[in-house]
Amino acid sequence: MIRQISQRLDGDDWSLIDLILKQYGLPTNDQCSNNKGDYIVNMIETGSDDILLDQGLIEKPRFEKLTMKESDIRQPDKLAKYLELNIRDAEKLFSDAPRNVIACPGCEAEGDEVTFKKNGFGFVVCSKCSSLFQSPRPLKKVFEKFYMTSESSDYWATEFFPPVAEVRREKIFRPRVEQIQSLLKLNESYAGTIIDVEAGHGIFLEEWAKCFPQNKCLALEPGKKLATICRRRVSRFWRRFQRRHRSGEDEAMLSFASK
Ligand SMILES: [Zn+2]
Repeated sequence: MIRQISQRLDGDDWSLIDLILKQYGLPTNDQCSNNKGDYIVNMIETGSDDILLDQGLIEKPRFEKLTMKESDIRQPDKLAKYLELNIRDAEKLFSDAPRNVIACPGCEAEGDEVTFKKNGFGFVVCSKCSSLFQSPRPLKKVFEKFYMTSESSDYWATEFFPPVAEVRREKIFRPRVEQIQSLLKLNESYAGTIIDVEAGHGIFLEEWAKCFPQNKCLALEPGKKLATICRRRVSRFWRRFQRRHRSGEDEAMLSFASK
């Protein structure tokens, strides 16, 4: 589009070019280059995004650009404390736990070696699909104990998350709802069931319910304190991992990592 306008105006007088640029609400400059094509492109690119959007010179981005600093969503002192508690919990709850080597959860490939270790946990990069996953993996019951009793889980629920909850709503959860809505081409009459796995405080589902009031929102949250907070926000709620749910065609199950 910009190239077309540039070519269209290239043969006109300078005064006429400036007049047309002004009509579009675009800037002009008396001290620019002698090349009309370069000048026109430069003035169009200098115009504000709102004007360029209004005039159809640029397309609206599919997703809004978000500006966010890590400190907006993770207060540095609380993050340091949380990581310290993580290390302590890993030592206390997992150091003697039996572990099983698992296949890639993405493509079920087997046989890849541990790529790196963190806090005593091995991580593998799948040689077939490049998924990163944790293996050898402790048994499920140890993870359940971790969620139910660990200091770091409690700290996350009650100290780490609350001060940044509303920023995360604006910067993470609401855009995430919009992205899913756009990717799945859902309109507000969509009336399926959505399940948020590890729903945390339930803010994602709260935002989801604003867009899709006819949806049934289900939260699956294994953490004891998070579960107590989440229960207030979500229409149906599960805490235990073991509970099974039969998926219907109209259901979507979502899980995001956003520590
Ligand atoms: Zn794989």
